[in-house]
Amino acid sequence: MQIELLTIGDELLLGFTVDTNAAYLARQLAAIGVEIVHRTTVGDDAEKIAAAVSEAIERTGAVITTGGLGPTADDRTRPVIAKLFGRELVRDDAIVAQIEARFWRMTSAKMPQTNIVQAMVPTGARVLQNNHGTAPGLWIEDAEGRWVAMLPGVPREMRGLTADSIIPILRERIGVAPTAIISRTIRTTGIGESALSERLGELGKSVHGMPLAFLPGWAGVDLRLTSRTLAPDDAVRALDAAERELRDVAGPVVYGDDGDDLAKLVLDSCRDRGHTIAVAESCTGGLLGARLTEFPGSSDVFRGGVIAYDNSVKTKLLGVSDVTLSTRGAVSEEVVREMADGCAKELGTTIGIAITGIAGPGGGTPEKPVGTVWIGISGLGETRALGRQYVGDREEIRLRATQAALDQVRRGIASL
Ligand code: AMP
Ligand code: MG
Repeated sequence: MQIELLTIGDELLLGFTVDTNAAYLARQLAAIGVEIVHRTTVGDDAEKIAAAVSEAIERTGAVITTGGLGPTADDRTRPVIAKLFGRELVRDDAIVAQIEARFWRMTSAKMPQTNIVQAMVPTGARVLQNNHGTAPGLWIEDAEGRWVAMLPGVPREMRGLTADSIIPILRERIGVAPTAIISRTIRTTGIGESALSERLGELGKSVHGMPLAFLPGWAGVDLRLTSRTLAPDDAVRALDAAERELRDVAGPVVYGDDGDDLAKLVLDSCRDRGHTIAVAESCTGGLLGARLTEFPGSSDVFRGGVIAYDNSVKTKLLGVSDVTLSTRGAVSEEVVREMADGCAKELGTTIGIAITGIAGPGGGTPEKPVGTVWIGISGLGETRALGRQYVGDREEIRLRATQAALDQVRRGIASL
């Protein structure tokens, strides 16, 4: 089933409020096989609302709106859509009583008269009970079965009405064995978007007829498969097969599934093998330690670390030699090796992870530009070092460095 979404409010156009309602509705509806095929935002303007709704009614015939059901003068959705459908607005005393009761319960005050407009219902419209606020939702439908469902803009109320009314109504309309829109994500790291696309070849366009999306971010490139045309069980089977093929071809750059955090995966595999971790962080200033301690139970594996920002800390607490520092510089392969070995030795762990780099925006030189990062891993066989050159701002460079360091541990463990 295909529908349209119209989100209403000046604040959305001005950018003061991010349109989270649209994202929420798209995800919830996709799960039951309802696809939002067109999305519009208009301000609190009667003519604009009327034009947007009538276009959507002509085009798709199925529309959800959010916003503009409040009690104030800038809330215009109800009268505009009633007029478009040629309906009168009639006061519903049951709703008045509900709003009055709610006011009394929540504020021990009488309902302001301005709230009466929220009890006005277009003739023939279905009232959708709002369990989280004053304005009920409204479902209005013409003789040809074209409909508009009006929901409040307040996200909590919109979510409640979606769960309580919209999803059950749409499920009923779709009937048995609907198609589902189901996505599956696999996470890769340590490879760029274009190199990954080259490696995947034809699969980069579609896998078993399902489109593939490339979603790059600091953690790596996520690959998302989406099934839109199959019944739920068939979709899951098709996604399983497509995912297997994709993992095979992508190879060792794949580290997890949707929502997986590499830090958590590394902690788990270290725990399984009896490894312990210490960190020595220069440019990331504790970010790697923070990522590793985000998960309950991390103390089984993570011992602690040294934030070796200044060179004196690198020498005093990690045993990095003054000579190496002065001849090679703090951001170098030799220093990162000594940092990795030093933290594992000082903290008595099987694995030491070190990061040193230039996060910017200042501090770069022609030989070592901003974004130069060295990562060292001690333990897991010989001490290894990896040089990287990242683009991005300070935050991104630091996050990418922690991800690359964790990935080296993951690969090191897998290769043993
Ligand atoms: P309204 O129902 O238009 O009076 O909206 C009430 C409040 O809900 C607004 O002040 C916004 O903060 C919020 N809101 C409205 N529309 C959206 C939307 N599409 N996404 C997120 N928040 C919204
Ligand atoms: Mg509004």
